Amino acid sequence: MKFETRRTEPRWEWEKTKKVAVFAMDDKLSVPKSDVIGFIEELLGEFAIPLDMIDGNLKHSRGLLLIKEILSMSMKNDKINYEQFEKELRKVRNVGGLPYGIVILIDKGKYEFYNKPGQQPAIYGIGVEDGLVILRYTHKASVRHEFAHILGLNHHHPPKQGCIMNWECATSTFCDECKGKIQEMWEDKMKAREMT
Ligand SMILES: [Zn+2]
Ligand SMILES: [Zn+2]
Repeated sequence: MKFETRRTEPRWEWEKTKKVAVFAMDDKLSVPKSDVIGFIEELLGEFAIPLDMIDGNLKHSRGLLLIKEILSMSMKNDKINYEQFEKELRKVRNVGGLPYGIVILIDKGKYEFYNKPGQQPAIYGIGVEDGLVILRYTHKASVRHEFAHILGLNHHHPPKQGCIMNWECATSTFCDECKGKIQEMWEDKMKAREMT
């Protein structure tokens, strides 16, 4: 089988750290942080993806402070402007901060996302390939959906029934096409792990 998009080098800097840290910004979450870490570890296990999950609050207190700063700089009309957040995060990473993948858990009662007019509104959370997920809802389906964006999956256009990678994630399973894509994107790293 030939793949067009084989990756021999990490596409994103954060992947080199092989780490993803989960930071809870608030005590009140719809599902606790430890469960969220469990959901992601389960997903990584399904595809044998060699990324380590880390409790950011426990292990990266400096990172937690940086994220709180970025968050406060990214508020617009009392809502999170996630494009601004990404921009500020990039600045911090350019000088060596927060090099790993980041999952941020926020209280949905406290925060909403700012959506530009005409932009598809983010409700549950946002996830981008550049090592960032912000979750308002921390139930399994939204965790898997947003984390799949970090892994490199995009939405189905038009929506595909029975797959989690629709804009509205009504299921927690991936269709065969999405499964194939994840395997394809990560296969070199899986092989690298088998060799060590
Ligand atoms: Zn999405
Ligand atoms: Zn799919």
